[in-house]
Amino acid sequence: MSHVFARHSKTPMRRASTGKGVYLYDAEGKKYFDGSGGAAVSCLGHGDPDVIAAIQAQVAQLAYAHTSFFTSDPAEELADRLVNEAPGDLDKVYFVSGGSEAIEAALKLARQYFVEIGQSERRHFIARRQSYHGNTLGALATGGNVWRKQAFAPIMVETSLISPCYAYRGQQEGESAFDYGQRVANELETEVLRLGPETVIGFVAEPVVGATLGAVPPVEGYFKRVREICDQYGLLLILDEVMCGMGRTGSLFAHEQEGITADIVTIAKGLGAGYQPIGAMMCTAGIHQAIADGSGFFQHGHTYIGHPTACAAGNAVVKKLTGGLVDRCAGMGPKLKGALQAEFGQHPHIGDIRGCGLFLGLEIVADRGTKAPFAAADGVNKKIKQTAMSNGLACYPMGGTVDGQSGDHVLLAPPFIMEDTHVDEIVSKLKKTFDEVL
Ligand code: PMP
Repeated sequence: MSHVFARHSKTPMRRASTGKGVYLYDAEGKKYFDGSGGAAVSCLGHGDPDVIAAIQAQVAQLAYAHTSFFTSDPAEELADRLVNEAPGDLDKVYFVSGGSEAIEAALKLARQYFVEIGQSERRHFIARRQSYHGNTLGALATGGNVWRKQAFAPIMVETSLISPCYAYRGQQEGESAFDYGQRVANELETEVLRLGPETVIGFVAEPVVGATLGAVPPVEGYFKRVREICDQYGLLLILDEVMCGMGRTGSLFAHEQEGITADIVTIAKGLGAGYQPIGAMMCTAGIHQAIADGSGFFQHGHTYIGHPTACAAGNAVVKKLTGGLVDRCAGMGPKLKGALQAEFGQHPHIGDIRGCGLFLGLEIVADRGTKAPFAAADGVNKKIKQTAMSNGLACYPMGGTVDGQSGDHVLLAPPFIMEDTHVDEIVSKLKKTFDEVL
């Protein structure tokens, strides 16, 4: 009997043993195509010799030094690298160990910023329904996944939730995509005015929605309108790029493609590519300066912030991403999406195929015409996950339980190193899986 506290305690888990390129192998030697890079983590695939060498060299030289005593070369180098590549005025990088920690840091920094500049009445966050920003209490509060929040609601900070930008289900008959985007963006203004603009800290959103909806990009103009509203009422725009960042959508930062700038951005997953647990919160020079000029101390911190070994891995990863792999992802994405559209575009149970870069989603429906989802009790996403694993494909099916409003979906986020032949492998394994389940 296993003493590991497993996520799904009723289902015995396969034991992962080896990772090589785009494949994972379990303890029995069965091979799986890593079709979602875990949860959009393994952008470089497995066993990358350069990242391994960078980690080994750093561990040998200096595995760890606490940030209340020291900074380190790898942390400085990685911060420079990220700031040089980031759009807008993002100028400071706060390294943490993962996505939830990055969001917690972002929420606390945003609140402290307003305290420092004498606007301590600002205390509300606005986020979106059907969203996920992490599992710690602050991050969970800003998420809109009803199922994940239910048990903890009484002990969480209250957050206002507005509609996501989810054209497949939200756009109305006769409404243009642009008008739809403006309409849902304007819900932010309505909520700001309802709460009182002087009480709102900021708006939290994923530029491209990952786990909860399955690779849903915004419609054109949505984030430009959101940015305008934030500027008009003095809100901070906090973009969660934990899943969609680090090249996944075809640009290093997903929000580059929206032509907007953010005040705070969180990244994780692809930053360490699974080789080390690392995340980061980036903020503008102005926010950092306000703290420096005020109390001089960000009231936050963890033992492993700025971990040298994790930062060394991050440097090796980002070097590869900016050295050609993000471009490769941008080129490979349309090939995979095109192949999915060719195979499943008319499938009676695939309602929508969407996404950008190697961040793609297929929404599964009971009825293509009415877009009616399968009942949550049917457990379609669980069946797809299990069947796909049997067919040698690890992909990321979710849905049904998010809020009962959307269908099940499959999220694909394969490693950027995948080759053309892998397109066929993914599509044929998915086809076999859908044939067996749907
Ligand atoms: N934000 C988003 C958008 C995520 O997808 C996730 C993880 N799925 C998180 C935050 C939390 O990250 P972590 O699991 O590393 O804490």
